Amino acid sequence: MKKACVIGYPIAHSRSPLIHNHWLKTYGIEGLYEKREVKPEDLRSFLSNLHQNGYVGCNVTIPHKQAAMAYVAEIDDSVRKTGSLNTIYTENNIFKATSTDGEGFYQNLISAIPGLNLAGKTAVILGAGGSARAIIERLLRADISNIHIINRTQARAQDLARLFGPKVIPGPTAQLPRLMATTQLLINTTSQGMKGQPELVINLADLPASAMVADLIYVPVKTNLIKLAEARGLTAVGGLGMLLHQAVVGFEKWFGVKPVVTDELYRLVARDIDPDFI
Ligand code: NDP
Repeated sequence: MKKACVIGYPIAHSRSPLIHNHWLKTYGIEGLYEKREVKPEDLRSFLSNLHQNGYVGCNVTIPHKQAAMAYVAEIDDSVRKTGSLNTIYTENNIFKATSTDGEGFYQNLISAIPGLNLAGKTAVILGAGGSARAIIERLLRADISNIHIINRTQARAQDLARLFGPKVIPGPTAQLPRLMATTQLLINTTSQGMKGQPELVINLADLPASAMVADLIYVPVKTNLIKLAEARGLTAVGGLGMLLHQAVVGFEKWFGVKPVVTDELYRLVARDIDPDFI
């Protein structure tokens, strides 16, 4: 039986087991996906003994996404550019790592807008943390023209511009209203709007009618930003779809089947987050 797991500290709230065990059942694969609480001081020994512990690979979450890089043999560009990993797997006997957040974000967009072409388009990203990095890296590979980074702490937005080059333009929050009319893709990567966090205060009135809005937050399943975008008739994608799509990469690497993100899975996880979700 093949086994994979997610490691983090704490780990109790991870929804990854729900997602991967659903796919294992759906595809009739004899396997198991577990949650493992790993303290920072135990990370080295856990990853060094991953195979001996019976795992073909693992997902890695807070606080190990950077530290785990020291214990893999090969990282790809997504890890190099984002400075963090979330998926470890073995290929040709080599211990490898990737970061699937950017791909998950992109595939979630494509699933909402099949045939989406980002060439010539301008995005605005709110936030300049780890998830913003992952998304910038993926959008640039998809040939997007410009990405404005609006962040509370200017220095972090400027760091991203230095890292990714001239298509990435940092700016203060006060600039947001002026950018709206030329924005085709607005993305919230801050924690604003998440349950227990301050609400994201934003006015979408000036976005073009063809604009897309994406929120990374998935608790609640439908954030205020997504509700505002839908009320304006804009295409809006929430964070839960990204969470499901980013899991596809690891599942395929570990279990050899590329799983499909279905409405059934979406509802299963949405109901776990919000029992009243219909
Ligand atoms: P980071 O901590 O790396 O970055 C958080 C960002 O949010 C920073 O830019 C920070 O600004 C900004 N921010 C936080 N609070 C506020 C506030 N009150 N006002 C203005 N800006 C604020 O987090 P991540 O990038 O890793 O994750 C961000 C969010 O995305 C999280 O809520 C996470 O759950 C979600 N996420 C969802 C995923 C999915 O699959 N759907 C995947 C990954 C993340 P500053 O720099 O000024 O501190």
